[in-house]
Amino acid sequence: MWNDLLPIGRDAGSHGYRRYAWTGADADCREWFKAQATTRGLAYEVDRNGNQWAWLGDPAAGDAVVTGSHLDSVPDGGAFDGPLGVVSSLAALDELRARGAEFTRPLAITNFGDEEGARFGLACVGSRLTAGQLTAAKARELRDADGITLAHAMERAGYDPEAIGADPERLARIGAFVELHVEQGRALDISGDPVGVASAIWPHGRWRFDFRGEANHAGTTRLEDRRDPMLTYADTVLAAREQARLAGALATFGKVAVEPNGVNAIPSLVRGWLDSRAADEATLARVVAGVERAARDSGERSGIGVDVTRESFTPVVEFEHGLRDRLAGLLADDDGRPAPVLPTGAGHDAGILSAAIPTAMLFVRNPTGISHSPAEAADEDDCLAGVTALADVLEGLACR
Ligand SMILES: [Zn+2]
Repeated sequence: MWNDLLPIGRDAGSHGYRRYAWTGADADCREWFKAQATTRGLAYEVDRNGNQWAWLGDPAAGDAVVTGSHLDSVPDGGAFDGPLGVVSSLAALDELRARGAEFTRPLAITNFGDEEGARFGLACVGSRLTAGQLTAAKARELRDADGITLAHAMERAGYDPEAIGADPERLARIGAFVELHVEQGRALDISGDPVGVASAIWPHGRWRFDFRGEANHAGTTRLEDRRDPMLTYADTVLAAREQARLAGALATFGKVAVEPNGVNAIPSLVRGWLDSRAADEATLARVVAGVERAARDSGERSGIGVDVTRESFTPVVEFEHGLRDRLAGLLADDDGRPAPVLPTGAGHDAGILSAAIPTAMLFVRNPTGISHSPAEAADEDDCLAGVTALADVLEGLACR
C-alpha cells in the first residue's frame, strides 16, 4: 500500500507531498482508496460531504465501529500524517480476517476529505460539515489562493456542492470512531513506547499584539529620546517563553510585521502574533494574561501603546474517558501495564467528531517528532505495532 501511495502528489524538488483537496493528486489518492475497498469486497460509498467510506456489514444496523484518517496533505507534508491511519485501518482489517475474527458490529474505514485545509484555509472541512460545525453556505464560499470557491472545486472533481451539509443520520449509526495517527511530537520517543492512546487535544488560540511607538531616524535619535516598540515586543517574546515554561504550556511568537520595516528606521509599529496552547483552558488563560501584563508593563515604562486582540480560540477536546481507558487496557503489555495515555497540541477529524460520537485516537511513535515536513518519519516496526494495536482495538470493540 505504501508503494502505491509513494509517488502520488510528491514534489520532485522538496520531496514533500502536495495533496490538496479536490486536486488531481487528491483524486489519485481517492481512486486508490476506492480500489482498496473494492479489492477487499467492502461496500464503497462517498457521503454528501465527499468523505469516503468502505463498509463491512450493514451500515443501517447501527452502532458501527469506524476507523480511518485522511489522505490529503499540508504543503510539502510528510508521507505519514493521514495516510498512516488509512493504510493501518486497511491492514488491521486484513489482520482481523487472518485471525478469523467474527464481527458483531458493522465496521467502516474512512478517508475524510480536506482535513489539512491547505487549499481553502480551514482544517477538517469534511468532518466539520458532517458534524454540523460548518454550515454548507459558509463552506461553499471558501476560496483558494486563485479565488476558486470550494463549491466550484468540488463540482470540477465530480461532486455535488449543493448536497453538502450536516449529516446527523450518518453520525447516529456510529457507535465509536478510532483514528490512528503518527505522533506529532516526541512523547512516545521519550517514554520508549511504540504506540500510545490520546487523552485530549489541548485548547489553543491566536492573539495579535500591536505595539505602537514613534518612527524616527536610527542615526540621529538619542537612545533616551526613543519610543521603540521593538524593545517592548522583545520583552514580550521573552515573557511568553517564561510564562509558558512556568505553566508547563506552549507560547510562540512565530509571525511578526514591522512598520515602516526599514533598516535605518526606529519602527512606529510592531505587530506580533502569539500562538499559545496548554493542557486546560484555565492554564491557557493564565499564560496569555501573564504575557499581556508583561507587554503592558514594558510598554508603560517606555511610552509604547499595547493592544491585544484574540483572533481565534479552540476549546479543549477531551476524548471520551470510557473508550480511552478501554483502549489503553486492550493495549496493555504482558505485565498488565496499560498503554501510555498522552495529550496532543494538534487538531484532527477525531477532535471534531468527538462532539457528536465517542471518539479515540492511537498515536504511533515518531522518532524525531517532526511533522508537516518531508522529514516526518516512523519506523516500520512501529507502524506494524500500530496495525496490531488497531486490530486489537477493533477486535475488542467490534468482534465476538
Ligand atoms: Zn493528520
